[in-house]
Amino acid sequence: MNDAFDVLILGAGSAAATAVELLRAAGRSVAVVADGRVGGACPYVACIPSKAMLHAAAARGEPPVEGAAAYRFAVERRNALSHHGDDTAAAQRLDELGATLIRGHGKITAPGRVQVGDEHYRYRDLIINTGSQPTIPEIDGLATAEYWTSEIALSSDSLPGSLVIIGGSAVGCELGQVFARFGSRGTIVERSPQLLPKEDRSIGAVLATAFEAEGIGLIFEKTVAQVVGSGEGCTVQLDDGTVLPPARVLLPRDATPSWRTSAWRRSGWPRNPVDCGSICIVE
Ligand SMILES: Cc1cc2nc3c(=O)[nH]c(=O)nc-3n(C[C@H](O)[C@H](O)[C@H](O)COP(=O)(O)OP(=O)(O)OC[C@H]3O[C@@H](n4cnc5c(N)ncnc54)[C@H](O)[C@@H]3O)c2cc1C
Repeated sequence: MNDAFDVLILGAGSAAATAVELLRAAGRSVAVVADGRVGGACPYVACIPSKAMLHAAAARGEPPVEGAAAYRFAVERRNALSHHGDDTAAAQRLDELGATLIRGHGKITAPGRVQVGDEHYRYRDLIINTGSQPTIPEIDGLATAEYWTSEIALSSDSLPGSLVIIGGSAVGCELGQVFARFGSRGTIVERSPQLLPKEDRSIGAVLATAFEAEGIGLIFEKTVAQVVGSGEGCTVQLDDGTVLPPARVLLPRDATPSWRTSAWRRSGWPRNPVDCGSICIVE
């Protein structure tokens, strides 16, 4: 058995640094277990790079640039703002705050115990900060389509000529706008009757009007039945038989909490509810 900590934070996503700061201020020893980048997705492949691209689409550099040069300018700016995917500074911040960073995938072997690789640690309190996993829909032909996820879209240097975006969630809408503003022909296929299906209908309607003005194609109340081909040459067939022109398929990141996935359960989390004391029960 290696070290024991007052608090163990499983997953080094966005909330980890703030939690460490508060816990250290309260005098508690803290370990953070990270099997991905410190900071999670947001600074490197999600919120920050997408907003950087949207801003660059409006700013166009100084002096202003257009076409392929505008996209190159945006990608350079995006890469700089997302630290080129390097989490060294974020890891250093945890160190400065006095946390112990443990790199690797954490498995809870029993309440109060975690295993990372061959090492075992003890903790008194646990913070689950493991984020979400992309859910890949079962669509015929998708597995071999070389589709983009939001992570790939926000890490790639290439600008697709056309995109079919499966789902009009916030991420689908945002990425649709990003690429349309640099000249890609984007089409969003949404199974419900509106964009942002979890929001009020009026919000989806306002957004749809804005998107149509930007030239983003919108298809509602249809699902993707089949994808044929790969890369930018995918033809997407809808459930009513409509076939869309060749495009790159983009699957915006879905937000299934990691601890709900079977992989997470396989990683050692007990199937039965775990009593974490008076504060919470994790099912
Ligand atoms: C394009 C895009 C734009 C977005 N824009 C916004 C926005 O403007 N505003 C907003 O609020 N949200 C936005 N989001 C959503 C936001 O990115 C996520 O909600 C956020 O990143 C989730 O953070 P998290 O820390 O919970 O999880 P994550 O960022 O997924 O971090 C969890 C970390 O835990 C690690 N981990 C998991 N299991 C283990 C384990 N067993 N052991 C060790 N480590 C583990 C993972 O590897 C990961 O590094 C956007 C998302 C996308 C894709």
